[in-house]
Amino acid sequence: MISSELSRLADKVYGGERLTPSEALQVYREAPTSWLGRLADHVRARKHPSRIVTYIIDRNVNYTNVCVAKCNFCAFYRPVGSTEGYVLGFEELFRKIDETIAVGGVQLLLQGGHNPDLPLSWFEDLFHAIKSRYPDFKLHALSPPEVLHLSRLSQLPVPEVLRRLINAGLDSVPGGGAEILVDRVRKLLHCYGKASADEWLDVMRHAHWAGLRTTATMMYGTVETDEERLEHLLRLRALQDETGGFTAFIAWSYQPEHTELAGTEATGIDYLRTLALSRLVLDNFDNLQASWVTQGGKVGQLSLAYGANDMGSVMIEENVVRAAGASYCMDEVEIVRNIEDMGFAARRRNMHYELLGDPMFRERAVPRMMELATARVAGDTSVPAELQLYGARSRSGKASRTPPPAS
Ligand code: SF4
Repeated sequence: MISSELSRLADKVYGGERLTPSEALQVYREAPTSWLGRLADHVRARKHPSRIVTYIIDRNVNYTNVCVAKCNFCAFYRPVGSTEGYVLGFEELFRKIDETIAVGGVQLLLQGGHNPDLPLSWFEDLFHAIKSRYPDFKLHALSPPEVLHLSRLSQLPVPEVLRRLINAGLDSVPGGGAEILVDRVRKLLHCYGKASADEWLDVMRHAHWAGLRTTATMMYGTVETDEERLEHLLRLRALQDETGGFTAFIAWSYQPEHTELAGTEATGIDYLRTLALSRLVLDNFDNLQASWVTQGGKVGQLSLAYGANDMGSVMIEENVVRAAGASYCMDEVEIVRNIEDMGFAARRRNMHYELLGDPMFRERAVPRMMELATARVAGDTSVPAELQLYGARSRSGKASRTPPPAS
């Protein structure tokens, strides 16, 4: 039995009115899950009446796992000087792009740790090199904390760092590193130092002002309260009101395995409720992605009934979530099957959500990918030769780049 208050709030949503923070919290806490899903699905259908669900073929590459930020929820990073630390070479990245293009991929999602031994010029040279080899291939790269890290490392303001990266070939900015945009939470997660909530939002504001489109994310299920989860959404909504620069929102649950923070993972129901809440609160976001990488294919498919209109990336490679224990894999055939079994038409898209066409595997033969690639094959500890060209900041980095004295 739905209370008269919930019915009133549903009528507000059906009428296209914005929920207040307390109303959104009430819906999230009190509404039955299937009812909440129907409400979110109504908003999804209003924004996307053509019953098309999109996805992108791209490759999620982590250029380095060396990081000074040391977030306590992260199982991916290695400290400076670790024998398990890596930096990918330009040639390795070119090979990954070749493989991506071979399966119909259109962009690289390029993110990594905050490595003090990779200066801004390394990124500029890499982006220039990629764009001169692959002019049409897109670079969706460097989340706000990475941009901030480069700003601190180079002692240049964020707008100048963005300008230089754009000149080198940056096409758009991924919304990683947002976690929960509330400083109390960020301090507990040891990620306040890499970017406060205001700093994260400010990098995105500058990116939007510079003409870039970006995505926004949320990693929930650590130490935040319901109110803080909602505050995160409200802060994104406010920035979207201001700039209109976000193309999409992606929520995923904290993956606790092998992390310092440890704990338990949020349930699939919590994921679906959080997704539905996001669809209701983020009324100025067109696109919500299903996070099948953390939830698995079946919950990912159900997401399409709880507000999502996009299946995210086909994912040729993944390193971060896998390091924390989750390793779901779906190639394009599987993603399309999940979309079509829900009664939607599947279409490829780019980062701007422009439709690129029908599934690639129906247009030409593409190899099936039953397992995700990793940044490096196990045991490969090679150091790219071009690193010698760039100044290092850390003691171990400096030592490794100094030629041995002549005997
Ligand atoms: S989440 Fe990112 S910034 Fe934080 S420790 Fe991991 S790699 Fe570094």
